[in-house]
Amino acid sequence: MAAVGDPAAAALRATFEGEVLVPADGGYEEHRRVWNGSIDRHPAVIARCASVADVRAAVRFGRDHRLTIAVRAGGHSFPGLSTCDGGLLIDLRPMNEVRVDPAARVLDAQAGVLLREVDERTQEHGLAVPAGIVSHTGLAGLTLGGGIGWIMRKYGLTIDSLLSADPVTADGDVVRAGEDENAELFWGLRGGGGNFGVVTDFRFRLHPVGPQVMAGATFWSMDDAEEVLRAHRDWITDCADELMTIVVQRLAPALPVVPAELVGRPVIAVAACWAGDVDEGREVLQPMRDVGSPVLDLFAPKPFLAHQQMFDPSFRHGCSYYVRSCDVDVLTDEVIDVVAEHGRMITSPMSSIALWQLGGAVARVADDATAFTGRSSGFTFDINGNTPTADGFEDQRQWARDYWTALAPFHTGVYVNFLMEEGSSRVRQSYGDATYQRLRALKQAYDPSNVFRLNQNIPPD
Ligand SMILES: Cc1cc2nc3c(=O)[nH]c(=O)nc-3n(C[C@H](O)[C@H](O)[C@H](O)COP(=O)(O)OP(=O)(O)OC[C@H]3O[C@@H](n4cnc5c(N)ncnc54)[C@H](O)[C@@H]3O)c2cc1C
Repeated sequence: MAAVGDPAAAALRATFEGEVLVPADGGYEEHRRVWNGSIDRHPAVIARCASVADVRAAVRFGRDHRLTIAVRAGGHSFPGLSTCDGGLLIDLRPMNEVRVDPAARVLDAQAGVLLREVDERTQEHGLAVPAGIVSHTGLAGLTLGGGIGWIMRKYGLTIDSLLSADPVTADGDVVRAGEDENAELFWGLRGGGGNFGVVTDFRFRLHPVGPQVMAGATFWSMDDAEEVLRAHRDWITDCADELMTIVVQRLAPALPVVPAELVGRPVIAVAACWAGDVDEGREVLQPMRDVGSPVLDLFAPKPFLAHQQMFDPSFRHGCSYYVRSCDVDVLTDEVIDVVAEHGRMITSPMSSIALWQLGGAVARVADDATAFTGRSSGFTFDINGNTPTADGFEDQRQWARDYWTALAPFHTGVYVNFLMEEGSSRVRQSYGDATYQRLRALKQAYDPSNVFRLNQNIPPD
């Protein structure tokens, strides 16, 4: 704790509605931790904000004491960018209010909410905001990077439903950004991450979904990977926007729905969600379920809420996580060969890949309408080298790197929310030159001293 001591923290605490924690305080250990257990950092001060006034006070405190500032919502940054050593952690998690106006189909969410909390409230009305596929992820970080998930091909990215966002800027001011208000900032917040301020509140448009959807996954032995991947490629060509698929490779997990004899065997799965009529979805899914000899078929009508949590057990808090990601345009036979070959090399019960299908409504928004880049990509890979503890983690990281490198001839870009700390050239690559330059100009206008730099950083112009 070089630059700030307990008396300074006590001064912040005096006017703070939420909690201010220093290492000696009870609760510090719990609240310094992030989702990725391989990240182990010790902020000097944790400001657990309960209000916009708290966020403003915390930003000013960080600036006055020249502290590195980390901002945390759901804490799911893969590289652990939402914590720091020796600086200030602005923890938004206590700000977790969700308000739904079902008649207007509008959602107001504070920045600390998790996806599950949003889904639970919106699904009471058969509504949803397009978001991610693991329900303990934070809405804020996911939204600020773009937001991909089960209903994006029907309703677009998370940012495509964003109506406004309210950041606290580096000066401690509160600004509203929307289509008609600070429009350039609104453009940048939709994909540019936490570079422009600490967003305290989001407003979204909601869409009708479920509450029952036809969804789940069919599994085959990894020996059948080529056949399954080719069939999947053909099946999704020109498919309806209601259909969204993710191909998964992993060792079959030890879950109650998985027969004991299958657990630990290498499998390839096609997971999907049909965001429309259940019977129609059943018909559309059938041809894929009929391919070859599945070893397990979990497709069924089920609550959208349950489907949104299907992957939760595979990404428990506190394990060691590493990801490499890339977009590819087409699943050529060459890509399929790489996928089949490297999928067969999985050895950790927690390592996996997700091959996301893009397109549909995502691709119908103009590239320069938001700061998200990659709308015309065909597919996104995230290759997860994970282990329950630090044991064997380096081997899994190497497996993920090797898989990613083998795909290098086919890379077209990368989703910024799936980057590790990979350096400024990768951040630039994820935005492309034109968007990156525009983001730099915006950064210069809102944060010229780069106060908010613990993120996929855009340096001021
Ligand atoms: C298990 C898992 C599943 C995932 N699934 C998906 C998915 O389905 N779809 C998808 O699109 N992405 C997914 N992601 C990626 C995810 O979108 C990013 O990791 C995202 O940053 C997480 O948001 P968070 O609020 O939980 O993270 P945090 O770690 O809290 O924050 C991530 C980054 O955003 C910044 N930030 C957070 N809140 C604010 C705020 N209010 N104002 C300004 N800056 C802020 C932080 O400073 C940090 O740089 C997943 C990640 C994980 C770990």
